[in-house]
Amino acid sequence: MPELPEVETVRDGLARHVTGRTVTGVEVLRDYSVRRHEGGPDSFRGQLVGQRVGAAVRRGKYLWLLLEDTSGTQDAPPGDVPDGAAPAGGHVTALMAHLGMSGQLLVRSGSAAVEKVPHLRVRLELSGLAGEDDAPRTLDFVDQRTFGHLSVTDLAPTPDGAPGGWGSPLAEIPEPAAHIARDLLDPALRRDELARAVRRRRTGIKRALLDQRLVSGVGNIYADEALWRAGLHYARPTDTLRLAEAHRVLDAAEEVMREALAQGGTSFDELYVNVNGQSGYFSRSLAVYGREGEACTRCGALVRRDEFMNRSSYTCPVCQKVPRNARW
Ligand SMILES: [Zn+2]
Repeated sequence: MPELPEVETVRDGLARHVTGRTVTGVEVLRDYSVRRHEGGPDSFRGQLVGQRVGAAVRRGKYLWLLLEDTSGTQDAPPGDVPDGAAPAGGHVTALMAHLGMSGQLLVRSGSAAVEKVPHLRVRLELSGLAGEDDAPRTLDFVDQRTFGHLSVTDLAPTPDGAPGGWGSPLAEIPEPAAHIARDLLDPALRRDELARAVRRRRTGIKRALLDQRLVSGVGNIYADEALWRAGLHYARPTDTLRLAEAHRVLDAAEEVMREALAQGGTSFDELYVNVNGQSGYFSRSLAVYGREGEACTRCGALVRRDEFMNRSSYTCPVCQKVPRNARW
């Protein structure tokens, strides 16, 4: 399952390899992969062809491409749009991509753009760019387990007037992501408000971290890593956290994700050339997650695994003592 750092790596790669190009063709090889698109595959194609990709944007693990309607408008350079405003003339929509368990977005050019890899579900053909990089490209959605999906959706203004996500100043967000809270890497996140909101919850801290309406982008892996780093047990009741402890765990979650991002920063370009069905998700250096029975790197105690929300929680029994009044 991709976590925020992987999704950000994909977003960054799309921003560099896809923006500015116009969709010239769409092939849906499996209807199920556009099941969330209202109107089905024909409508999906119709709403994409002729659109220009304006930006690649991410909030939490949600990823979208801004689409600018180029029909009937003069081509304007992408830099002309004032901060927070929609580009003049064109209606803006978004192509949302849910990667699910195994989804990949692969950008290819030249002869590689013709070949169809296994598990290819949707292919977008993209125009060449005038100037230095003239070759047409394809954007392939490859998804072995088919939990992922694509859809074209409308945008809604953000309630706080700040950018919808990382990657564009546009203060709008795709409607299906409107309920998703800002993530810990988002400069518009109000950290003090979040820490206070965490303490107002009546739940365990890990459940709060995983609640995408409270804070987005923290998945099971980085929740466990952040809690280990902060020295807090996952069942610690949020309403017993001191403000400093709430900040400590949020800071730790941001830290582990930034470190993962720094480690994985080049993987999209590898993916871009290496498309032989490998997952592309980078290996993570983890302290507790997936390390049941191994020694805690801080104290040497053996890492334990508990069942948690149909998944697992990994903790060090010494560094992360079970709290009184634990909320499992
Ligand atoms: Zn330990």
